Amino acid sequence: MRKRQRLTVRGLVQGVGFRPFVYGAAHRHSLTGFVTNTPAGVVIEVEGAAESLSAFADDLARRSPPLAVIQGIEQEELAPIGATDFVIRPSAEPGPMATWIAPDSAVCADCLAEFSDAADRRYHYPFINCTNCGPRYTITANIPYDRPFTSMRGFVMCPACQAEYDDPANRRFHAQPNACPACGPHLELRDAAGERLAGAEEAAGLARQALVDGRIVAVKGLGGFHLAVDAACAAAVVRLRQRKGRPAKPLAVMVADLAMAHRLCHLDQAEIAALASPAAPIVLARKRPGHGLADAVAPGNDMFGIMLPSTPLHHLLFHGVCPALVMTSANFSEEPLCADNSEALRRLAGIADLLLLHDRDIYLANDDSVVIHLAGAMRQVRRSRGYVPQPVEIDSSGPPVLAVGGELKNTICLLREDQALVSQHLGDLKNPAGFGLFKKTIAHLGRIFTTVPALVVHDLHPGYLSTRWALEEQEIPTLAVQHHHAHLAACLAENRFSGPAIGLIMDGAGLGTDQTIWGGEVMIGDAAGYERFASFTPMPLPGGDRAVAEPWRAALGYLHTIFGDHLPDLPFLAGHAIGPVLEILAKDLNCPKTTSCGRLFDAVAAMSGGCQVIGYEAQGAIEFMVAGGSAEALPFEFSLRSGDDRLIMEVAPMLHGVVAAVQHGEGLALISRRFHRTLVLLLTEVARQARQATGLNTVALSGGVFQNQVLFTALLAELNQAGFQVLTHAMLPSGDGCLSLGQAVIGRRAL
Ligand code: ZN
Ligand code: ZN
Ligand code: FE
Repeated sequence: MRKRQRLTVRGLVQGVGFRPFVYGAAHRHSLTGFVTNTPAGVVIEVEGAAESLSAFADDLARRSPPLAVIQGIEQEELAPIGATDFVIRPSAEPGPMATWIAPDSAVCADCLAEFSDAADRRYHYPFINCTNCGPRYTITANIPYDRPFTSMRGFVMCPACQAEYDDPANRRFHAQPNACPACGPHLELRDAAGERLAGAEEAAGLARQALVDGRIVAVKGLGGFHLAVDAACAAAVVRLRQRKGRPAKPLAVMVADLAMAHRLCHLDQAEIAALASPAAPIVLARKRPGHGLADAVAPGNDMFGIMLPSTPLHHLLFHGVCPALVMTSANFSEEPLCADNSEALRRLAGIADLLLLHDRDIYLANDDSVVIHLAGAMRQVRRSRGYVPQPVEIDSSGPPVLAVGGELKNTICLLREDQALVSQHLGDLKNPAGFGLFKKTIAHLGRIFTTVPALVVHDLHPGYLSTRWALEEQEIPTLAVQHHHAHLAACLAENRFSGPAIGLIMDGAGLGTDQTIWGGEVMIGDAAGYERFASFTPMPLPGGDRAVAEPWRAALGYLHTIFGDHLPDLPFLAGHAIGPVLEILAKDLNCPKTTSCGRLFDAVAAMSGGCQVIGYEAQGAIEFMVAGGSAEALPFEFSLRSGDDRLIMEVAPMLHGVVAAVQHGEGLALISRRFHRTLVLLLTEVARQARQATGLNTVALSGGVFQNQVLFTALLAELNQAGFQVLTHAMLPSGDGCLSLGQAVIGRRAL
């Protein structure tokens, strides 16, 4: 029996080779009809035998192109009209759906095969791509996603490329960045003075040789520049650190292939799948002994951040040379990575010996994404290239809202109906480059999401540049949201849980409604509001930000609060000029109070002999965690006390325990394990009391401290054991990268 159906496919199905795929599948199953792009999604009408229609539906569900994301298919029965062929119809008017842009994708297997085939016209061509792979978000300036709106607009396709582009059966049908050596972008190699040394394949060859010789090469990638050196060459890695002004923070490593990844790290199936995925993120994985890389790559850390080559240019770089390259973002610490050639020449001249450039512009800088496999899920640490602008689906709809995030690790978020578009990692807004990218991204996402927000949501902190932008530089009504409330709401939204829930928000710093710095908060609430149920004892940070950069100062502040003038005799004190710090503590001068969990970690690590002065954010806490490696040990004493308006998770009993342990000569590793265990038990106990007080059984974990894998996994296990339903972040980072989503849903709720 002949039947006809109309299928409307929603999701990321435009600009990813979906129509040619449908065309192929329809022909395979001898169906007639058409496929077209509409604002509602891809509309397909197919007519043929009933079995063929169901086989076709099966193909749609299971064999769609690698970059396509199907969110739903609506099916409607029609009367057969006796059509005789299947065609791709021109797109309808571009509406919101028709403007969708895919994330950037690593080179696909088909392109890589052509790239490696000496007889192919794109043999070793570093810009080979097709509808299944290549640049998207980073080269697109406007909608619709069409070549004139991308940084490919200056390249006119040669007849061979144009023929592929026009052929519905071709893998490059409507592949906007389609190019070949005859018509597309080209490489060039320049020295630090900007002098051109070579072009095309010769440029790649010279760059390879320079890497073998231990030199530093800046390489233009998909979302920006990397600085590359041979990861096995200690002198080169150290020189890179010196020139970049990055003494200690672990450096990402790109490995030639999966075999090399296995040599460096212990990898499970999920980690292998992530490495090889189209997003090609940096995966944090445990180092193997005898890995052979320079110690300076990731000192004080038991993990490497590794990734596979994602662009054809990377494959060219690895051709038979160093099996592992340090590939770190070409930025000064916490700036967004630089993205254009003249900027690279200006900013990187003092760092790179050579620059491997090309003439395909990067419109929007995107750092590499970072993920970690923890407690049964692949979790984002930094969500950027390869994932953005894939929206996060939320469980409510309403007016469009823009949220501008925090200040460090900033992201912005635009809500449209039930979709949240969270931007790439924008870095520290205090850097002019970061703030510039912030403004550019807001304008860009508004354009590609075709949305004008009804409300702009910002952090409570009046000094954040994001707050000032919201209040001073735009005209839409605004709303201020407390930092940790936004963390809680983000975790609920990501999990499509409307709440309320018990939020354990363990974080660095965020301004509280009482104008002190919060950061170790237990909150009961949802997007509509919250109650501050418990926090750590407020503790002084002598010198404010200086105590963050130099954890020994925080340690002294905490000890002074507990022991007064009778400071216990601890070895770490001998190394510092403590007199002036004690003086400001005694006078309470520039000693802001904080309930921060991050600072508690810093202070405990420092007083136990760990990191005294940090070289990168959270170094003290990270090295302390690595030193212990688990939360299995006898806990310190802890207690909860009723305060004026909330419970206080008391810091004093824990610190008495830590001091005694140091004085008994327990090493950093054991103290670390005991401290982690203490926090696990304390936080589980406070959750129990919250459950008793409210009847709620759902706990949400958010805040930067939960990037601590030991604490996160042990606490999750303990909470599960105590019968809680636990919500965690996976799609978004638990650190401040999730703030903008939380702000956005709170803002919409307030409308
Ligand atoms: Zn491809
Ligand atoms: Zn061409
Ligand atoms: Fe935070």
